[in-house]
Amino acid sequence: MIPAAYAVLNLDAVWHNLSKVRSCAPHAKVMAVIKANGYGHGLLRIAEALQDVDAFAVARVDEGIRLREAGFNNRIAVLEGFTGAEELDELLHYQLDAVVHSSIQLEILEARTVQGACAVWLKLDTGMNRLGFKARELSAAYQRLKQCTQVKQPINLMTHFANADDINDKKTLKQISLFNETVAGLSGELSMANSAGILGWEQSLSDWVRPGIMLYGVSPFPDSTGQQLGLKPVMALHSRLIAVKQIEAGDTVGYGGSWICEKSTSLGVVAIGYGDGYPRYAKVGTPVLVNGRRVPLIGRVSMDMITVDLETEGYAKPGDLVTLWGEGLPVEEIARCADTIPYTLVCGVTQRVQIIEKTSER
Ligand SMILES: *Cc1c(COP(=O)(O)O)cnc(C)c1O
Repeated sequence: MIPAAYAVLNLDAVWHNLSKVRSCAPHAKVMAVIKANGYGHGLLRIAEALQDVDAFAVARVDEGIRLREAGFNNRIAVLEGFTGAEELDELLHYQLDAVVHSSIQLEILEARTVQGACAVWLKLDTGMNRLGFKARELSAAYQRLKQCTQVKQPINLMTHFANADDINDKKTLKQISLFNETVAGLSGELSMANSAGILGWEQSLSDWVRPGIMLYGVSPFPDSTGQQLGLKPVMALHSRLIAVKQIEAGDTVGYGGSWICEKSTSLGVVAIGYGDGYPRYAKVGTPVLVNGRRVPLIGRVSMDMITVDLETEGYAKPGDLVTLWGEGLPVEEIARCADTIPYTLVCGVTQRVQIIEKTSER
């Protein structure tokens, strides 16, 4: 049975995008960020496609455990670290790298005396003001970690950018120099760059890079598409027309009747909605491909359906292919039409959407 809503994942594109990371940062080790279910593409599937990276990064301990239990032996860093002793024990047991960003974590580490040690990424807050030690606190934290029997030496050092997606924002340069000044003289490997850093800030490349969104073929910048940056989109979201009908001037379409027909036209109903992860706030006029050609969204997005104006697609009929994003319709463009970022769209594809993997032999 062909499902109504389905996402085609081109896993060869993951491979291509990884080679783009390597060509931008030829001297860096790659920590592939596969948190949030591989940005909505499937944690294990993406881990499989990226098997020969130097490390994976996930946000939470349970994501790391899922990878271990599926048999992945790669190095895995947990970006949010641990919150209590119990999570620390899990990190140690499953041999996951911990990001250490707070003094509470130092206390937990110092109080622990179980067998085993884990690798640590000590996080410096250079201006994101989310996780990490301030520059003035870093040296003391580093020394404390050095004394911890539970910590593998040397300690690695990292920071995260707040505005790297804005190529004109000097804040990134300030973050880079604060990081470099603060870690000078400390031993251990260094890591700063996310996708925007890798693609836009050469100064941010260091021992390790941490690409996320670019691995999925999506641009980290607001004004470009992955394709324009030499990336290949991994996900395409499809469905089909399930009804086509004539509507007349004055008819309203959808909940709230917010869209009023100005002149008679042909209306198409597509089996996709916010229950599948299509954005509820996509504006009237958001492009949708019907049989590969653009038509505008009209009316409100509902849970299971959207409506499109088929004025220019007179021959379209129920069963015809619809593309919500994918080839010919960048997810970045849909994100702009819905006042969001493409990260939320790919992460938000729901359980109901059937996944179809596309690979060719390598
Ligand atoms: C999510 C994340 C990344 C990857 O960011 P992208 O913008 O998707 O490349 C890198 N580092 C940290 C700490 C993150 O949380």
